[in-house]
Amino acid sequence: MATTEARRECETEDCSKDAKLQCPTCIKLGIQGSYFCSQECFKGSWVTKLYETFDINTDPWPGYRYTGKLRPYYPLTPMRLVPSGIQRPDYADHPRGMSESEQFLKGTSQIKILSPEDIEGMRVVCKLAREVLEIAALMVKPGVTTEEIDHAVHLACTARNCYPSPLNYYNFPKSSCTSVNEVICHGIPDRRSLQEGDILNVDITVYHNGFHGDLNETFFVGEVDEGAKKLVQTTYECLMQAIDSVKPGVRYRELGNVIQKHAQANGFSVVRSYCGHGIHRLFHTAPNVPHYAKNKAVGVMKPGHVFTIEPMICEGGWQDETWPDGWTAVTRDGKRSAQFEHTLLVTETGCEILTRRLEENGRAHFLSQM
Ligand SMILES: [Zn+2]
Ligand SMILES: [Zn+2]
Repeated sequence: MATTEARRECETEDCSKDAKLQCPTCIKLGIQGSYFCSQECFKGSWVTKLYETFDINTDPWPGYRYTGKLRPYYPLTPMRLVPSGIQRPDYADHPRGMSESEQFLKGTSQIKILSPEDIEGMRVVCKLAREVLEIAALMVKPGVTTEEIDHAVHLACTARNCYPSPLNYYNFPKSSCTSVNEVICHGIPDRRSLQEGDILNVDITVYHNGFHGDLNETFFVGEVDEGAKKLVQTTYECLMQAIDSVKPGVRYRELGNVIQKHAQANGFSVVRSYCGHGIHRLFHTAPNVPHYAKNKAVGVMKPGHVFTIEPMICEGGWQDETWPDGWTAVTRDGKRSAQFEHTLLVTETGCEILTRRLEENGRAHFLSQM
């Protein structure tokens, strides 16, 4: 039997005509979506873009003492909409972005053992999350804004029938986290253009068929200095060494010892305020997975557990503070921080990296620029 292509609607707000044109830039980047009914609607979307490049405010919080050179570039574009046919997590429509299902289990340390059906759900969503990160990776270069990357991420999610998990999670305003230089994690995509020599972490989580999949990588923007290369390489090694130690019977608290040992041996420190986490039908749940040594994490790995490891490693001290936006975590000394993250399934003999890269033998993107 023949299949018919689904009808597409123009992406201009208040326009519901059939969409027959697709943005050529998006096609080139392999981004699905960006469909318009006419040249007029397509141009309209670029006029909006042009307008957005004026009136950049890099001082939205007078009096705040930044720890480094990075500044926010406001105003942000409005929160993006997700097509109504896509399944939404519970916090998507909560006024404060609260997840009732997560709150219900808050404080419990019991770790869920996933059924074979749930595991299959996790395999699918993690593969989709990886595809979205691959699209973000194509866009990382000098001159591109983090909001442009986030827009591509948003379209890549919805084209795959995924809800971008960060969107409205405790009111987070964007579909991904983009963390530049001294930003440790949870950077908000904005109008700042990437600069040659920056390091940029893009953190992607997507929600599909009731499950979340979560990963991140740190990328080089053009040519970076030797210090950035050593920091990013060491951070990646910290994650991979921790993954190598995952198998049934190992205590979750052990992972921090592995990570800190390698970070310290290279003269770096380990962030203490942000941890890996259990993930499946909930975005963040038990176990809590600290990345620093001698931590008191609860739990022993068992087949069927799914969780993330996502070490944040700093050039200087591990101390963090948060920008007045309530999200952007930066180093107190303004020095750089890098991060890598995978979602892992504990198996009978070790673990399966659910968010592994299918190209380049699974190796991270920065390795091709070393
Ligand atoms: Zn993440
Ligand atoms: Zn995570």
